[in-house]
Amino acid sequence: MLENNIKTVQDNIVRAAKKAGRNPQDILLIAVSKTKPADMVLDVYNTGIRDFGENKVQEIVAKSQVLASDIRWHMIGHLQRNKVKQAIEKSCLIHSVDSVRLATKISEEAVKAQKTVEILLEINIANEETKYGFKAEDAYDVLKEIAAMPGIRVRGLMTSAPFVDNPEGNREYFKHLKQLCVDLKAKNIDNTSMDFLSMGMTNDYMVAVEEGATHVRVGTAIFGERNYNI
Ligand SMILES: *Cc1c(COP(=O)(O)O)cnc(C)c1O
Repeated sequence: MLENNIKTVQDNIVRAAKKAGRNPQDILLIAVSKTKPADMVLDVYNTGIRDFGENKVQEIVAKSQVLASDIRWHMIGHLQRNKVKQAIEKSCLIHSVDSVRLATKISEEAVKAQKTVEILLEINIANEETKYGFKAEDAYDVLKEIAAMPGIRVRGLMTSAPFVDNPEGNREYFKHLKQLCVDLKAKNIDNTSMDFLSMGMTNDYMVAVEEGATHVRVGTAIFGERNYNI
């Protein structure tokens, strides 16, 4: 079942990429394994997937202890400052940098660990009250400030679009984020590359790929529904 799910998602990514005249190789599928047990992660790993997304550092720590060391863990959820040290140890990319305070802490811990930490700035593209992230109009100022911090390299932007029944409803948001990323890249700020665009989840990843996503974060379509009550 998991194997079929992966195949379906991969085929859909290829189709969406081709439709938009993009190379499917330029899109990384991140299997979002939050709340799912390590044995399910292993099943997905065995289909060839190496990139997994979690929204809690504790889950990355627990799963990385029992799973292969060549897994790349992506931190995609709101990160508390007291978890930063572990997050930079265990993850390859922090997608969810949503405040200057958090970036400051990441910078401090990166310097201590003598590392350069790759991050994305989370943008609240639809200005939803319930969501974390910077406002699009603040992105340039925030990027300049964060890019100047030692130990940090800003690779691009991330967003979680609104939950909608019809994914076409999010196309304008994905277009907006892509344009924002292009505009920021053109500023050529030191320690930024702005070549990553993390957008698209189970409901809307095909539209996101058509609009330029380089990283899609897919959970339910691979692992099935999540049960938060266990
Ligand atoms: C849970 C989550 C996903 C995956 O959501 P699905 O709808 O299950 O694909 C993607 N991104 C973030 C930030 C998440 O928290």
